[in-house]
Amino acid sequence: MKASKKIKPRLLIDVDGVLRDFIGGLASIYQREYPDHKIKPVVSRDLHDNFPIGQEIYRFMDETFADEILLEAPLIGDPVPALQAYESRYNLVIVTAQPPQGRYPTLQWLGKYRIPTDEVRITDQKDEVYGAILLDDFVHNLEAFEKTGRPAVCFDQPWNQSWKGPRVSSVAEFLQFADYLLRRDEEDIISPDTYLA
Ligand SMILES: [Mg+2]
Repeated sequence: MKASKKIKPRLLIDVDGVLRDFIGGLASIYQREYPDHKIKPVVSRDLHDNFPIGQEIYRFMDETFADEILLEAPLIGDPVPALQAYESRYNLVIVTAQPPQGRYPTLQWLGKYRIPTDEVRITDQKDEVYGAILLDDFVHNLEAFEKTGRPAVCFDQPWNQSWKGPRVSSVAEFLQFADYLLRRDEEDIISPDTYLA
């Protein structure tokens, strides 16, 4: 058996906007604190345009209510069964940018929902992480990753409509697309050149 058969490709998977509905979690805590405020639909990362407290939203989410928002934010869809189904074929690597105060509640959140993962990387330099494909919702991350010559796949959200590359609307769809990109359904042997950074 060739050594390459034993190598499981690493799939890099973002958290907020992909697995965790951060905006939904933020909105529900916000409405609890400001029941009379009307939140506009979030279509960009400029959250001060959407929440009536304006720039104060950043202190609200990053300081005052950071733990609660990050812990209580719901899942997006139902990604766990799909991740479970693929964990024997891929190394599932969580790659998430978090400020220092976001690290502990994010690790708790991943455990709370029993997200199947082989590794958790906390970094905003996702293009520097070793792995075959990135799934992310932030156009900047997708562009930076694509520049390294590896496929970047967008998780469809209102704020990333400018991305012209591959796009999926669920984790299950992403995993099927990864099979296609890495030809996992055609042959079991993948050249390491295919996915080394
Ligand atoms: Mg994200």
